[in-house]
Amino acid sequence: MSDDILTKLKRVVGDGRVVTGERVSAYEFPWATHDRCLAKAFVYPASTEEVSKVMALCNEHRQVVVPFGGTTNLVQGCATAEDDIVLSLKHMADVEELDSAAQTLSAGAGLTLQAAQEAANKAGLYFPVDIGARSSCTLGGIVSTNAGGTKVIRYGMTRDSVLGLEVVLADGTVLTSMNRFIKNNSGFDLKQMFIGSEGVLGIVTRVIFRLAVKPQTQQVALLACDSFDKVVATLHTAQQMLPATLTGFEVMWNSFYRLAVQPKGRLTAPLEPGAAHYILLEAMGSEPEHDAAAFEAVLESLLTNELLTDGVIAKSDRERADIWAIRDEVEPVIGNSHNFDVSLKSADAGAYVATLVNKIPAEVAGTEVVGFGHLGDNNVHVSVQMKDQSSERIQAVEKIVYEQLLPYDGAISAEHGIGIEKRAYLPISRTVEEIDIMRRLKRMLDPNNILNPGKVVDAS
Ligand SMILES: Cc1cc2nc3c(=O)[nH]c(=O)nc-3n(C[C@H](O)[C@H](O)[C@H](O)COP(=O)(O)OP(=O)(O)OC[C@H]3O[C@@H](n4cnc5c(N)ncnc54)[C@H](O)[C@@H]3O)c2cc1C
Repeated sequence: MSDDILTKLKRVVGDGRVVTGERVSAYEFPWATHDRCLAKAFVYPASTEEVSKVMALCNEHRQVVVPFGGTTNLVQGCATAEDDIVLSLKHMADVEELDSAAQTLSAGAGLTLQAAQEAANKAGLYFPVDIGARSSCTLGGIVSTNAGGTKVIRYGMTRDSVLGLEVVLADGTVLTSMNRFIKNNSGFDLKQMFIGSEGVLGIVTRVIFRLAVKPQTQQVALLACDSFDKVVATLHTAQQMLPATLTGFEVMWNSFYRLAVQPKGRLTAPLEPGAAHYILLEAMGSEPEHDAAAFEAVLESLLTNELLTDGVIAKSDRERADIWAIRDEVEPVIGNSHNFDVSLKSADAGAYVATLVNKIPAEVAGTEVVGFGHLGDNNVHVSVQMKDQSSERIQAVEKIVYEQLLPYDGAISAEHGIGIEKRAYLPISRTVEEIDIMRRLKRMLDPNNILNPGKVVDAS
């Protein structure tokens, strides 16, 4: 049976586009997001028609298919078993159309986020999503996870910028919803069902994104605060004083900042570690003289109101990039650790993380809690440093992280999704009825449970 389906798949996509054996186990996950790749084969279709034929065949053979974008997700969403087939969209990565007048970009789902950003930039426009994994993650991946990132405070989540989508269902049906209008209430907006569904309902093959006007100015500052209340007050000040231009408000606890800037000299760090919290504040606008003055006025106000212990405004592109590098360089933080991504009110985030800082090392020896995140979007990342990652220890840590969210009515996933890693905890954030509808949708669209089974909800 297994040879049979591989032979048939080769007939659809060509011999060279079905890869087996050592080349499968040699697959390297960027940022070591997954342990190792186990699969019967990698299949690389080059068109929607090929994806459709591949899915129809796999459905007929009850063959499990795991979609791969850039495999940068942090929730084991691309975990595979030995008998699975990986479907990679790598060869469907063309920019099909960049309509400068309509401010839209249509592309294949395999295009990397960075390539989409560069294409928009070349046309004098701006791609409204940005995340640290931009060089590897793909449009299909950011759509399937409804990725957030560092510009959400201004442009919203990925969902807010997707106008149109083409999806191939588990049985090979092609669902084309390539809308390009801001307004289109012609019946149900079916694309919304697939955005953020982590590849369990369909394969995203093509996307139309809404682009933004390219900002002409960028102001970036690195600020230090001695209490979390002052971080929250700084956020409110920035929201009030920069209502149209505030683009980024990233918070880093000292535990993060210290790890990111060490060893000394690895990155250019304009402020020494040691303050309780650091903030990366960013504004982007279109009036050079006014924007710089408005940004400086925010800092003056923050200093006058004694909200900061220190602060520096970047004066050049180089200095702006240096400050962003501190926040983007998460590798020393997320390596050797178990990582969480939760949502709660910004004002509650300080107390929540403080509880974890005390409770986790007290109950699970040999751990340290590191906090950072997109505070302007109610989103905190908690990275628990732990060399010994036995499943009992991870479960003990997970229990504390998620149970401590309950008093705040927090969400177990802000932007990373559920994958396998958070599935058991979904009832903390979703009602029984919501989970039941998720299962029913999965069973309706994929009755043989072949598409990324076991991720998000168990529909078996
Ligand atoms: C350094 C770093 C920084 C990050 N920062 C952020 C951040 O700020 N915000 C954020 O939201 N995330 C962040 N992430 C997580 C990750 O980058 C995002 O989840 C991203 O959207 C995943 O895109 P991908 O192409 O790598 O998708 P993958 O990891 O390949 O896939 C994600 C899920 O979608 C499915 N899938 C992939 N492609 C398709 C497709 N075409 N059709 C259907 N299903 C598909 C997969 O099966 C999987 O379940 C970060 C990750 C790293 C490593």
